[in-house]
Amino acid sequence: MKSKAAVGRIIQELKALYPDALCSLNYEKDYELLFSVRLSAQCTDARVNLVTPALFARFPSLEAFAQADPEEVGEYIRSCGFFRTKAKDLVECAKQLLERFDGKVPGTMEELTSLPGVGRKTANLILGDIYKQPAYVCDTHCIRITGRLGLTDGSKDPLKVEQQLRKVLPPEESSDFCHRMVLHGRAVCTARNPQCAACSLLGDCDYGKKAPQA
Ligand code: SF4
Repeated sequence: MKSKAAVGRIIQELKALYPDALCSLNYEKDYELLFSVRLSAQCTDARVNLVTPALFARFPSLEAFAQADPEEVGEYIRSCGFFRTKAKDLVECAKQLLERFDGKVPGTMEELTSLPGVGRKTANLILGDIYKQPAYVCDTHCIRITGRLGLTDGSKDPLKVEQQLRKVLPPEESSDFCHRMVLHGRAVCTARNPQCAACSLLGDCDYGKKAPQA
């Protein structure tokens, strides 16, 4: 288990490295973020950002999505992968947001995960970014890096990682911390070739301290 001091140092260092802990998905409306996160499954945020301008222009409201033919929606998101399933989820999700939540993205884990295609990762992101609540977005970067750092036991199970992070991260830091994990995972701590020798988290990182330094 990491000491509180080590966790604090990691948090502070990440803040210094990545002052803007922003989600890299582009959106204007709350439900657009929800839909963009759905599209980002098995896809990159950059790819999602390429398709959403045309998608949100063609279907500019929840009502438009709810009335859309999933096949047409699918044509706009084809390059994101699993486009038929994702298109059905967007249309069904729009219907449910209108019917069950008065057209608003709900603000509890239970309500969010009751929507089609919305799992805990998506729900956490919405809670953090829209509702400014504690949020533990356990995507592939967060799972990998927190395991390497020793903030978790190295589990690849998102729910177990979330449970372990809830015990070590101050709640008010959690959402930004997870965004910074994504940024660090892209810039330094990549899956295949982590740049440990150049990483300013090295002194507090279990994996980095064991890895041979170039
Ligand atoms: Fe990743 Fe290496 Fe940095 Fe640890 S020291 S966070 S493994 S790049």
